[in-house]
Amino acid sequence: IARKKFVYLCTNALLLEKKLNQYSPTPYLTFSVHLDGLGEHHDRAVDQEGVFDRAVAAIRKAKSLGFRVNINCTLFDQMSVDEITAFFDFATNDLGVEGITISPGYAYERAPDQAHFLMREKTKQLFRDVFKIGKGRNWKFSQSSLFLDFLAGNQSYQCTPWGNPTRNVFGWQRPCYLLSEGYANSFKELMAETKWEDYGTGNYEKCADCMVHCGFEPTAVLDTVAHPLKALKVALNGVNTDSPMVPELSLDNQRPAEFIFEEVVAERLEIKTERSDAA
Ligand code: SF4
Repeated sequence: IARKKFVYLCTNALLLEKKLNQYSPTPYLTFSVHLDGLGEHHDRAVDQEGVFDRAVAAIRKAKSLGFRVNINCTLFDQMSVDEITAFFDFATNDLGVEGITISPGYAYERAPDQAHFLMREKTKQLFRDVFKIGKGRNWKFSQSSLFLDFLAGNQSYQCTPWGNPTRNVFGWQRPCYLLSEGYANSFKELMAETKWEDYGTGNYEKCADCMVHCGFEPTAVLDTVAHPLKALKVALNGVNTDSPMVPELSLDNQRPAEFIFEEVVAERLEIKTERSDAA
């Protein structure tokens, strides 16, 4: 923040209210609070009762002190279109958040509730239905217009998994936030040594249903830079919810899924133990 960088601090908000005194409001800091729906929908998504009420109380407190607050929301198929639109109305008109970040869920191997993640066709129709009702309402999405257009089935994109990289205690995660199929020691190594052509919709079974923000927003941003007028048109006119959707990428030649997460983590733990023993 001192370097005038914009920080989106992601949080489930459980400790936010208690810790707010450690921060000062500034246009460079936005709390991005994880909220997946109203009341019981959010509590069910995070598998803990009372989390929605605590998160909402923290958001109200933060707003009253002048902080910027965004909500980030993963949509699952257990909410109807009406429930989703009521949730966005609440976030906009009642909480008064600065923005809403949305992404469809993705049935990745470690997510607790596989049954409720959205499949590709259902995802696009759901977003179309939501955007159709949302026309004229004052929802502010903190995303590019072309990513929203992609969610509604109007753009055919391949992901850009290095666009929102994940770094954790094991290193730089390959190939993206959702899949953990190896780690690199530096971003340079991640870029140079990951077999990017092995991943993405149509290349890998695990990627078939992915339309997730971390992989596809960077593609939409690159497309925005390459075709600014197209992006401006969607931003001004809203997402098209009536024309036929663009054809899907073919899944005919995708390689089968590999389940190597435990192996990868065990290997990284061994490397970390060896390093700390040597130090
Ligand atoms: S499609 Fe891209 S972003 Fe999605 S899981 Fe596969 S590599 Fe990751």
